[in-house]
Amino acid sequence: MAHKITLIPGDGIGPEVVLAAKRCIEATGVTIDWEEALAGQDAQDKFGELLPKSTLESVRRNKIALKGPIITPIAGGFRSVNVAIRQELGLYACLRPAKLYEGVKSSYKNIDLVIIRENTEDLYAGIEFEGGMSETKDIIAFLQKYTPKKIRTDSGISIKPISKYGSERIVKFAFEYAIKAGRKKVTAVHKANIMKFTDGLFLKTAREVAKDYEGKIVFDEAIVDNMSMQLVQKPQNYDVLVLPNLYGDIISDLCAGLIGGLGIAPGGNIGDGLAVFEAVHGAAPKYKGLNKVNPTAMILSGVLMLRYINEEKAAERLETAVKEVLKEGKSVSYDLKPSPDDPSAVGTQEMADAIIKKISN
Ligand code: NAD
Repeated sequence: MAHKITLIPGDGIGPEVVLAAKRCIEATGVTIDWEEALAGQDAQDKFGELLPKSTLESVRRNKIALKGPIITPIAGGFRSVNVAIRQELGLYACLRPAKLYEGVKSSYKNIDLVIIRENTEDLYAGIEFEGGMSETKDIIAFLQKYTPKKIRTDSGISIKPISKYGSERIVKFAFEYAIKAGRKKVTAVHKANIMKFTDGLFLKTAREVAKDYEGKIVFDEAIVDNMSMQLVQKPQNYDVLVLPNLYGDIISDLCAGLIGGLGIAPGGNIGDGLAVFEAVHGAAPKYKGLNKVNPTAMILSGVLMLRYINEEKAAERLETAVKEVLKEGKSVSYDLKPSPDDPSAVGTQEMADAIIKKISN
């Protein structure tokens, strides 16, 4: 039976990389009935809103989506369409594998990390108050009743909520993922030494959850600043990392840098029974319509999606084809060549063609 999947092309380079991924996924022979839904600039032009209800309904109905990156408007009511999609659909876990494939230039060897980022809480929750506004002054006055620490009255305020519920849910997700994926260790990353009641709660909860997995998965913990150094010096010492939202965002880009850049890093946003797969990278507007950028991150997001819908064989075939193309280093985009102006670099669709050819061999 065909899988019904929502397809959101997105903005900037989104439609190009999504088309490349769609073609590669279809080449595995899995039958998919795609339902195209808009979000971002196209949705704004057609429906007058960046994230139409009909798009969210499509994902809710089909339970699964493949999504291109969407530009975050600098001004306007929407903080980020991407964050709104995750929050509206309760996609609390962001899964970002960082695997170094042979042939990709990197200063490292043997990197196979998985970053699991909490997606709904923390400084990313979007609870912010602009400096100088009357409600911000009220909040500052209120806070000053409860803390001797001085807050300047012209400050902007961002709130960082981290709950026991949210921490338990994401750490459990990380352990369950580790078991399912045959991983050995989960490291909780935090700044509990300074933020005792938010990161402290995350860490305390992680330690409690870890007890249920004793003897099955090793539990380990690290402070985020030290973790950043450790990842640069000896990333091979780590396996699955679980982090609150903001650290997860930053560390996953750091890990993308270890494995050859944003063009390679895939991701998935997963909730209870719903999932949206998308690359770590953004809409890179300056490359829009040039058929130039690397489609690998989006194609590997498709591999994660195929695994999620239990199409393991198709996922394996597609990942193997990507690996072969990367290893040969011939039909690859500019970012994977020794120099970005290498004339032998191929375009987005041509790289997808090379991957499709490998699938068919
Ligand atoms: P970006 O990831 O779009 O691009 C940064 C740089 O990374 C690019 O200039 C390019 O050099 C490189 N890059 C990105 N994707 C690549 C690819 N597939 N192949 C080769 N090189 C690639 O980040 P940005 O410029 O900070 O953000 C642009 C827009 O995208 C912003 O509006 C931002 O909010 C949005 N964004 C969206 C998402 C998402 O949809 N999930 C994620 C990040 C950023």
